[in-house]
Amino acid sequence: MHGECRCGQVGFQITAAPLITMACHCKGCQRMSSSAYSLSVAVPSDGFALTRGTPVIGGLHGALQHYFCGYCMTWMFTRPPGMDWFVNVRSSLLENAGQLAPFIETCTKEKLPWAATPALRSYESFPALEEFPQLIEAYAKHVAV
Ligand SMILES: [Zn+2]
Ligand SMILES: [Zn+2]
Repeated sequence: MHGECRCGQVGFQITAAPLITMACHCKGCQRMSSSAYSLSVAVPSDGFALTRGTPVIGGLHGALQHYFCGYCMTWMFTRPPGMDWFVNVRSSLLENAGQLAPFIETCTKEKLPWAATPALRSYESFPALEEFPQLIEAYAKHVAV
């Protein structure tokens, strides 16, 4: 799978099977994506590589490292601290974004009243970290059908 920012100066490829797809309705995602919610696909770090350009850190510049194109400022991917085994990539940037419908949606407590996604599982905040192995398994089964 290939993806790129709005201007195309930063490009990347994904060579591993996605772990899970998500929509996040939190206020932070609403603001950072300038939209109703953010879309992401979590992929194993060793299956993610930049093919062009060098992204820069953006967002709150906190522990969560949000990478942006330094020219067009597209929010591209996020590396969560202490969980360097996966990268959370904004799936809207991928050529095959249409095939990556969100499997779960998070932070529905903060969602805009009219916002809706096709996610099969909804969480008021974030699922507990311990739930992710089961969710990843459920997603793998879901996409295998
Ligand atoms: Zn760009
Ligand atoms: Zn969010």
